[in-house]
Amino acid sequence: MTLQEALNQYNDWKFRLSAYEMALSIINIDRLTVAPSDGAAYRDERTAFLSGELFSIQTDPQILPVLKQLKDSPAVDADLRREASLYFKETTKLTCIPKEEFVAFRKASDASYDAWMEAREKNDYAVFEPHLLGMIEWQKKLFGYRNDSRDVYDQMLDEYEPGTDRVFYDSFFTKLRERIVPLIQKVVQSEPIDTSFLKQSFPVELQKKWTETVLLPYLGFDRGWGYQNETEHPFTSWTCENDCRTTTRYEEQNLISSIFSTIHEVGHAWYEHNISSRYDGSILSSGVSSGMHESQSRLCENYLGRTLPFWKALYPSLQETFPEQLRSVSLEQFVRAVNASFPSAVRTEADELTYPLHIMIRYEIERGLFDGTLSAEHLDETWNRMYRELLGVEVKNAKEGILQDVHWSDGSFGYFPTYALGSAFAAQFMHKMRQEIAVDHFLERREYTSVMAWLRKNIHTYGARYDAPGIMKLAAGEEFDPGYYLDYLETKYSRLYYLESSV
Ligand code: ZN
Repeated sequence: MTLQEALNQYNDWKFRLSAYEMALSIINIDRLTVAPSDGAAYRDERTAFLSGELFSIQTDPQILPVLKQLKDSPAVDADLRREASLYFKETTKLTCIPKEEFVAFRKASDASYDAWMEAREKNDYAVFEPHLLGMIEWQKKLFGYRNDSRDVYDQMLDEYEPGTDRVFYDSFFTKLRERIVPLIQKVVQSEPIDTSFLKQSFPVELQKKWTETVLLPYLGFDRGWGYQNETEHPFTSWTCENDCRTTTRYEEQNLISSIFSTIHEVGHAWYEHNISSRYDGSILSSGVSSGMHESQSRLCENYLGRTLPFWKALYPSLQETFPEQLRSVSLEQFVRAVNASFPSAVRTEADELTYPLHIMIRYEIERGLFDGTLSAEHLDETWNRMYRELLGVEVKNAKEGILQDVHWSDGSFGYFPTYALGSAFAAQFMHKMRQEIAVDHFLERREYTSVMAWLRKNIHTYGARYDAPGIMKLAAGEEFDPGYYLDYLETKYSRLYYLESSV
């Protein structure tokens, strides 16, 4: 095949792929936000059909040789070679699994999800246990088709964060544990920060109005390219640079839950929005890895959104919206409260300091499940013991313990560690950003988009053009170093809790 023929075939394939992906993405957003529930059966059948069509396009037997030709051809420019090689990798993963095996896995994973839901309702881990075991066996089987000599769990870690494996994460988490555990102990022994005023009644309509008229405009989340909706579990979804959707959830008794989830999700949206438009419609027009994506949302949520300059700009209007509740709360008290640290049993409610330990527990369990040192049997007891030892928390029940996260129910092992990695990436980016631009000045002066402009130029614009270590080098000028993250946590929490200087 001539290069031109290969390119024509490739472009046509890529366009069809992106059209189906867009349709399915919009249908999914609609399903999770506003779609009437009674229409589910009609929609689900047709969505399944569209997914099948998409799978057929993805695994089109004629495309692999085309992708191979493009990725290996020196006559093709570097952008396109990277694009073709990523598609080649993805397509190979899908085509190596016999279709009937793939269908059987989907069925097993649906059943496992249902069992997880039932187990949560009954607050009984035993209902989910055989399915967890099943998902582990399934993943071993599916990864076995890949003809990859690496350990299955290493392959799964690499799946979400290319280039990582157990050696990488063992070293990462050891460094975290050495410095975070003693810091938490000091915080726990110090005078607790008052957060009670955040748990009063804050009418949802008022929260929503403030978010839509003050917060979203401050964040530069423009209706020209983005839209925020409501869901049970907040998420971000996108089809191209100019169509990014976020969701949030308002809770009457918790003022800051929707605020920080909004800042977080809009951070994901900014990443997608800022990717160079020349990658639109291709595999390069997406964040490069789970850790990198999470680094951008966490940078916005924690490293920008929990600072004094950020709230100098926004707190007066929040106070005006809730005069009764916040009249006697000063700006400084509010900022201290949104940063307070309390070891808890639930990951999604954890503060910045204790969060990485929740992830460490999950990593150690996953690692043990795959290398055979842990068994799924009575895993809830292991879980509870680790929470007691590492966080000093007594887990009350399985729902707040081992059943709290959805990830294992569909076999997504290896995903959790990227959350902690994202926070650590963010610290290093932030360090560099502060050397180059006056971040606090921009936040205080409502110039959030100027901060986003730094992220666009140094990180976002590349999309998946380079891998995560490559982007770290380009943006920070050096290799990833978790020391920045640990320095940040130590400095921040020592100041916040007036600890004897440990830094
Ligand atoms: Zn996120």
